[in-house]
Amino acid sequence: MKRLQQQKQQRQQFPAVVKSRRVAKVLVVGDSGVGKTSIIKRYSSRVWSPGYRSTIGADCLNLTFHYTDDTDLVIQLWDVGGQERFKTLTRQFYRHALAAIVVYDVSNLESLNDTHEWKREIEESLKRPSPALLVGNKADLLQNGSCATVSETMRFCEAHDFCSALQVSARDGTNIDRCMDEVVSMCKRQIEVVRMGNAGSPDTRSHGLIEFVPYQQLEEARRKKKFPCTIL
Ligand code: GDP
Ligand code: MG
Repeated sequence: MKRLQQQKQQRQQFPAVVKSRRVAKVLVVGDSGVGKTSIIKRYSSRVWSPGYRSTIGADCLNLTFHYTDDTDLVIQLWDVGGQERFKTLTRQFYRHALAAIVVYDVSNLESLNDTHEWKREIEESLKRPSPALLVGNKADLLQNGSCATVSETMRFCEAHDFCSALQVSARDGTNIDRCMDEVVSMCKRQIEVVRMGNAGSPDTRSHGLIEFVPYQQLEEARRKKKFPCTIL
């Protein structure tokens, strides 16, 4: 009886189908006060909580998405505090990032101009190009006039090599889900780039991609002395 209970417990701890995971680290950067923390909060808990609390260092949130039938894509959002901009403290959080969301406030032209500095800073620190999505937050304030027209923003986006741009509002929820859809697509594209560029080389982590295989699969591979994919 006790043994049956133990077996049941083990089955619950180690379910039959365990998926592989690809973990992609995505940086969320931009000037202080543009709404990085609010966007993440709105997406993850569907709430709007006004009030400003400066992010010290970085907060991290894991979001799981479907990748293939046997693999999940875990997007690790790193909410990097803006108050330490362009300083070493922020840079230490950039390590092993796959992509970035660069946020500005649509009512603040300086915050838009600073976005390409943020992108450049990340790429300099990683020593390689990094795909980035340009996100204009506080779209609910647009009736007061935007800091740039749509065509100006698109020109900016092209000039500074952002993957795409969109306007969102953490306050009323506009485009928040679409923003995450764009992030997922950007990561999937970049994962393919990294994997193709690394064919034959195991070092995907230095490009921001960590791959995990389920424990059972690992044991199997170990027995056959064959590793199905990279463990870092
Ligand atoms: P962070 O420093 O970039 O993380 O910015 P926060 O998320 O802390 O937000 C800074 C301030 O902007 C807070 O007072 C928020 O209430 C406000 N805020 C954030 N998102 C929006 C938005 O979509 N619309 C408006 N009107 N205010 C926002
Ligand atoms: Mg913050």
